[in-house]
Amino acid sequence: MIIAIDGPAGAGKSTISRLLAERLGFVRIDTGALYRAVALAATRRGLPVEASDALGDLVRGLDLTLTPDGIRLGDEDVSTAIRTPEISLAASRYSAVPAVRDGLMDLQRRLGRTNDAVMDGRDIGTVVFPDADAKIYLTASADERARRRHRELEASGHAADFAVVLHEIEARDHQDMTRAIAPLRQAEDAVVVDATTLDIHGAVEACLRVVEAARGR
Ligand code: C5P
Repeated sequence: MIIAIDGPAGAGKSTISRLLAERLGFVRIDTGALYRAVALAATRRGLPVEASDALGDLVRGLDLTLTPDGIRLGDEDVSTAIRTPEISLAASRYSAVPAVRDGLMDLQRRLGRTNDAVMDGRDIGTVVFPDADAKIYLTASADERARRRHRELEASGHAADFAVVLHEIEARDHQDMTRAIAPLRQAEDAVVVDATTLDIHGAVEACLRVVEAARGR
């Protein structure tokens, strides 16, 4: 069974997907981490987004392994290195390159076919698994997403200006929603879970109800 969870940055997809996967006994596949690891590798090699062929080669040659806590690039655990604001924006830019998306598509389909999975990203229900068993579009207002991200940053000792955090969220929304291929959008048959006024528990329960309804079908 594949549960697709798409939605904008900061809506809580990671936490909610992880908890949902635990409740269901499924694996969680964090496709954003794959795009982030590609962005990290491309940045380290100084490849610009225009270098489409080189980026395609890079993606095909990368050894990416999702682990229960994060992701490895070859032998290196890059789970922390991919979470900086710079890599967030870079991931959003590199993910608009068709050669990058094509390269990661095969990997995502392989991972999804071999496991019962909760897979979260931007185009899982629309492009990667259009026939997913359950599709959830998890969203929240930009203000609320920025407030949460801001709180997280402060809690981890990274003081940040709220206006800057909001601007970064809006810039990523814009890039993710307006790109030519696989833009972020709600699949026609996705159920919207708006987490603006839900806590984590409430959002997980709402997602479980969508999954149970799909199982009933
Ligand atoms: O979900 P996360 O914030 O980790 O994703 C980082 C970036 O990777 C997103 O802003 C988006 O541009 C890109 N992405 C994507 N398709 C996915 C997952 C992530 O384009 N399925």
